[in-house]
Amino acid sequence: MAEQDAATLKTKLNIKQVDAASVARVRNQLTAQLLQNWRFAAADCANSEVFCDNISTADELLTAAEELEERLPESYRNWHTKARVFHNSYAGELIRLAALFPKVSSEIDTFSALEHTGFELPDRHFVLTFDDGPSQPDGNTDKLLALLTNNNLHASFYLLGERLQARLKQAEPATPATLFHGQCAAMHGWRHESHAKWEKWQSSIIDTRDLVKATFPQSYQPWFRPPYGQRRADSGEFFSKHDLKVALWNIDSQDWNSRVSGEDAAQRIMTLMLLWRRGVILFHDIHPKALVAVPWLLDHTRQTGVVWQDCRQY
Ligand SMILES: [Zn+2]
Repeated sequence: MAEQDAATLKTKLNIKQVDAASVARVRNQLTAQLLQNWRFAAADCANSEVFCDNISTADELLTAAEELEERLPESYRNWHTKARVFHNSYAGELIRLAALFPKVSSEIDTFSALEHTGFELPDRHFVLTFDDGPSQPDGNTDKLLALLTNNNLHASFYLLGERLQARLKQAEPATPATLFHGQCAAMHGWRHESHAKWEKWQSSIIDTRDLVKATFPQSYQPWFRPPYGQRRADSGEFFSKHDLKVALWNIDSQDWNSRVSGEDAAQRIMTLMLLWRRGVILFHDIHPKALVAVPWLLDHTRQTGVVWQDCRQY
C-alpha cells in the first residue's frame, strides 16, 4: 500500500495509526479467498449466467466485478444496489480491524497456527458459536440449548468464568452437569476484559478452564475465545503449553449491536455465508436475537448443501 493510501485511510477511519503491512496482508488473504469462492460458484454454472467467467487471478476478479455492473440483468438491479451499500460498509469494518492489527488484536488475523478463524473449514461448512453466557437459569442460554437440541445442532459456547460461578451458586435446582449435553463448552475468560491488556489474563483462562471442565466434563473443549478477539501477540507459547487453541470467528452477527434486530442479524449472516462460503458464526447467548436468527437461517438454508458443522468434530 502506498504512503498516500495509508494517510487517506487514517483520515477515513479516524484512527491515529494505520498498519499498512497488515492491511496489505489481510487484503491479499481475503482476495485469495474470494477468488477461490468465485471458482467454487462458477463450477456449478450454466454457461449463459453472468457469474460464470473463467477467472484465475485477483486482477481478473477485480475486472470482472467492475464489468459485472454493466452486464447485470435488470432482475438483479435491486439486489445489486442494496448489496453495494452493505459490502462497502462491511469492507470498511474489515479494513479498520486490519489497519489496527496487531497493535489492537482482533479476529481479522492470526498470530499462529493454534488460532482458527473459520476460513479453515471445508466449502459450505459453518459452525455456530455463542459467547458471554451462561445466562440466568431459564434465560436465553437455556432457551437456545433447547432450540439447538430440537434441531440436532451442536454448537460451541464460550463461557465467562464469573457468570458460570454465579449461576452455579444461585441455581435452584442446581445447574445439572448435563446442561450442555451434546454441545461444546469452552472458555471466554473469567471476566469480559481484553486479554491483551489485563495482567491476569493467564489465570483468567486457567481458572475458567478448570471450572468449565469440572462442571461440564462431557462437553468441555480446549478452546479459548478472547473477549473482543484481543490477545497478546506472544501468547502462543502459553496456549501451546496448556494444549489450548484460540477460537476466533469470521462471521460476526452483530447481535450485540442495539440497532441490529434478530432478523437483521440473520440477513447479515446469510450475506456473509454467501460471500465466504465457510466459517464460524459469532452470536451472544446473553442476547435473545439468536433465538430469532438461528431458526431463520435453518429455514433459508434447507437443501442448499450447507453443513452445520458439529462443534465436537471441529
Ligand atoms: Zn464476549
